[in-house]
Amino acid sequence: MLEALLKQMEALINERGSAAVLREHLALLRERVGALERENSDLRAQLQQAKAQAQDSQQRLDRFARDNPKGLRCNGCGSVDLVRAGAKPDAIFGDLGVNRVVFRCRVCGAESAFMEDTMG
Ligand SMILES: [Zn+2]
Repeated sequence: MLEALLKQMEALINERGSAAVLREHLALLRERVGALERENSDLRAQLQQAKAQAQDSQQRLDRFARDNPKGLRCNGCGSVDLVRAGAKPDAIFGDLGVNRVVFRCRVCGAESAFMEDTMG
């Protein structure tokens, strides 16, 4: 659109035999338009990147909410990116039917066991 406008201006200047000053202004405008187009292109690329990052973050949040709604933390690295890996009887109270829920960490791979009532 800007390019078309510049062409119209150029045609007008040539038609009317306008001064060299106007040509210089036109040249400066062209330069500026080129710079703006490059900037626009860079910003579009950054926007795409930001959108991808936002989508990735949303997916992580959804995953945490689904797999680890209580925000339990890995005993190995402290991450909340845990996924349930099973259950086992508690070492002390297992005979009384108390289980521990086992989570595997997606970050470091460590397994952490939590009391069942922390699951909600
Ligand atoms: Zn971990």
